[in-house]
Amino acid sequence: MKNFFRRISDGFRSFMAGRYGADELSSFLSIAALVLLVLSALVRQLFFLYFLALGLLIWSTFRMLSRNTLKRRQEREAYLRFFGHFRQKWNLIKNRWRDRKTHRYYTCPSCHVTIRVPKPEKGKTIAITCPKCGNRFERKN
Ligand SMILES: [Zn+2]
Repeated sequence: MKNFFRRISDGFRSFMAGRYGADELSSFLSIAALVLLVLSALVRQLFFLYFLALGLLIWSTFRMLSRNTLKRRQEREAYLRFFGHFRQKWNLIKNRWRDRKTHRYYTCPSCHVTIRVPKPEKGKTIAITCPKCGNRFERKN
């Protein structure tokens, strides 16, 4: 019995050898497909999402089994670049909420970088020096 499972796992390993495998993009595609499947099952008017979900699953499987790893890596990088932007925005919103009692976030007027500073006392004006461009500006709480 143990040999049987070993044979299966060896077989799978040699089948996947040289293939691209899973990455962030393929897991995103699979999760998106799952969400679409559930939506298409719950809402009759959204039945067409089923086909979209099927397409995403086929795409995700194709990527995992693909031997063209260079092309798949490029797709992954494009995906990460695209979603990195959203993730950054989302993290900023999260951190602002987490630090709302202790820190304030300001945007540098000259280079537009976001700066986190300890929360000043109410009604006080503080001088902020931008760590990126060295610009000095004042903000009132
Ligand atoms: Zn600046």
